[in-house]
Amino acid sequence: MTVPTPFSKSSETPEASTGPDCTTVDFFFENTYAQLPERFYARTNPMPVAAPRLIKVNIELARSLGVDPDELASRQGIEILAGNRIAAGSDPIALAYAGHQFGHFVPQLGDGRANLLGEVLSRDGIRYDIQLKGSGPTPFSRRGDGRAALGPVLREYIVSEAMAALGIPTARALAAVTTGELVFRESALPGAVFTRVASSHLRVGTFQYFAAQGDTEALRVLADYAIARHYPDAVLESNPYRTLLDSVIARQARLVAQWMLVSFIHGVMNTDNTSISGETIDYGPCAFLEEYDPRKVFSSIDQMGRYAYSNQPLAARWNLTRLAEALLPVLEQEAGTKEAAVVSANQALAAFDPQFEAARLAGLRCKLGLFTPQEGDPALAEDLLKQMAINHADFTLTFRSLSDAAADPQSDEKVRSLFAHPEACEKWLARWRSRLNDETVSPEVRSAAMRKANPAFIPRNHLVEAVLQAAVTRQDFQPFEELLDVLSHPYEDRPGLERFAVPALPGEAVTQTFCGT
Ligand code: AMP
Ligand code: MG
Repeated sequence: MTVPTPFSKSSETPEASTGPDCTTVDFFFENTYAQLPERFYARTNPMPVAAPRLIKVNIELARSLGVDPDELASRQGIEILAGNRIAAGSDPIALAYAGHQFGHFVPQLGDGRANLLGEVLSRDGIRYDIQLKGSGPTPFSRRGDGRAALGPVLREYIVSEAMAALGIPTARALAAVTTGELVFRESALPGAVFTRVASSHLRVGTFQYFAAQGDTEALRVLADYAIARHYPDAVLESNPYRTLLDSVIARQARLVAQWMLVSFIHGVMNTDNTSISGETIDYGPCAFLEEYDPRKVFSSIDQMGRYAYSNQPLAARWNLTRLAEALLPVLEQEAGTKEAAVVSANQALAAFDPQFEAARLAGLRCKLGLFTPQEGDPALAEDLLKQMAINHADFTLTFRSLSDAAADPQSDEKVRSLFAHPEACEKWLARWRSRLNDETVSPEVRSAAMRKANPAFIPRNHLVEAVLQAAVTRQDFQPFEELLDVLSHPYEDRPGLERFAVPALPGEAVTQTFCGT
């Protein structure tokens, strides 16, 4: 399978048509957000680009949304994906939101380079936003050009699809096109437009936007919309707004635990990048740990390590505290007084730490193959992580090798070899084996279960970087296709793909990532 340019056919991408084309693309758009009060968004169309060409359509995702992937790859489809044509039923808008960026409040951010085209109902009845990112300036662009460079678009495509395959709630990639135009960052780069699918683009920052303006009516409308869309059962409660807050806290606590269990660092956990649905959104300078180091930071703009790997639960709790503050006026309507609303918000926030810890511990138990909880399990897990940190052990490989060692003690050697001082994990392995003996689970069953919790393949930073390099400098999209394929089955060992499962060689390691906006 060779894909020398973004525009030729691959087995994964429907053929982009070149001749006359009368295909129409049916998204069956609905526009519930565009029917909210006008101060929620700016009605604005994508700005056409010079020469749109298809990089990729996500066939399976398109089908699950009831959209025909062949239609998407048709000439009209590509024009829609580039913003050169407005699809039937689409009512494009740029959403208004605010946000705390690295702790500083910005009262107006908004979609500066994105257009929500509309919503579609998936085959399983869930409402999804279809959004173009990099589709030109909007009233929220401030000094930005409204565009996206090819590298960051491919990066978001790869990482969001990898996260989905890992089983982590995330926005998805429906398509990517090149624009035939350059964008100017530190250098001139090829431009691209990304089509993002998310169960909504409501953010903590959306609530902050109206709270900062003292617009309680808008807050109420927004909260009601969020409940109807994401937490419909909340209306059955006597306190729906408190239930909304509880629900977002629970989803975010679980989400951040899931990130950490696969060594993911989001990199830019600002409140405008914190979703109300509990999905991972806005993949900018994100990265995965290779050797385990809880203080690790990759993002070039995160100089103080605010969003370091192990700070992520603290950052999430801080963001959720901002959500609780923003919701106070509507919580007050439920609780009766301002004081009662503050008490209610604090009660909700107090649930974050225990929920995060419980999700993380449950995940670590799965990663270690422990079926029946015991009191000593947290210490067993923490001691392994401590030794991994001291010995620069690769996070992903250590847990994957333990999955093998669970069925076959011969594989202990593989685990040992990942530690700078192999004897360091000797004692721990003995403790682990003795702990496993307390359970009656067969080694084969345990090993199989562990393999489902411990991926073989993650988007290692150097692999992602190599893909972007090939695409940006040589218009070679074959590595992109290949990496997407590897990452689509992260828990399966597949012969011939070993090079995707190992850490960067010293010369290849990526130590810093960039926002790329
Ligand atoms: P991000 O860091 O990608 O989450 O974006 C933060 C804010 O900057 C959002 O309001 C974006 O819409 C805006 N933004 C980022 N890049 C651009 C760009 N190239 N043009 C206009 N706005 C942008
Ligand atoms: Mg953002």
